Amino acid sequence: MNENTAHAGRDGLPVSIQADRGEPAETPSRTLVEELVAANRILFRHRVVDAFGHVSVRHDKDSSRFLLARNMAPALVTELDLVEFHLDGTPVDAHGRSVYLERFIHGEIYRAREDVMAVVHSHAPAVVPFGVSRSATLMPVWHMSGFLGLETPVFEIRETAGDASDLLIRDNALGESLAGSLGDACVVLMRGHGATVVGASIREAVFRAVYTQLNAELQLNALQLGDVNYLTEGETHTTTASVGSQVDRAWNLWKREVEADHDGEDGGA
Ligand code: MN
Repeated sequence: MNENTAHAGRDGLPVSIQADRGEPAETPSRTLVEELVAANRILFRHRVVDAFGHVSVRHDKDSSRFLLARNMAPALVTELDLVEFHLDGTPVDAHGRSVYLERFIHGEIYRAREDVMAVVHSHAPAVVPFGVSRSATLMPVWHMSGFLGLETPVFEIRETAGDASDLLIRDNALGESLAGSLGDACVVLMRGHGATVVGASIREAVFRAVYTQLNAELQLNALQLGDVNYLTEGETHTTTASVGSQVDRAWNLWKREVEADHDGEDGGA
């Protein structure tokens, strides 16, 4: 089996089994693996992902590979579920398990953006309205979201896939198109679908994904009050520099929270 096969799984949703290729890279660092597992749980706890959505990291021993969970709900991911992928979305060895149909989001962004070390894809409900509105665009309303810049790009899948697609990034061409819409930005909204957020580390990508969602909620609230006074371009730069240095503070709290959740499970009946 040489090509990607997508078919209906037991729950009727598409799953993807793909032939493996190549040999594994050198073992990734413990920290990278642990942080990727924690990121999955943190993103669930902060409502960025639900049963759907995924987070990946570029392999720290081979920049032409990335790590992403097999096809499953993010909150349930353990290190045993992580799969190594080539940038074209082919698994090195998935052990016959199904992989995310939309893994091309990750590979094509890593291919297009050397600075990106982690990618979060989600259907975060708060951001969806800003992907479909013909008038409102997602813009930073507070200092925590200056990384959004003055304009958040929106990916229109119809330009690549026509007007009858399932809106999923199911091949390399669509992934490349999405990466093109992302450009140099940190966040790209996906019309009628969700958003993809990138960072120079797992911690930064998670931080941005959480604060993109919160900004969308606040902006929607502010728009209901009337005319909105957004951050200026200068403020987006200054706040990105100052708040960006505080990413570890959020990460340390969020990681502790998910560890406590997990301890609670272990301690229960
Ligand atoms: Mn999706």
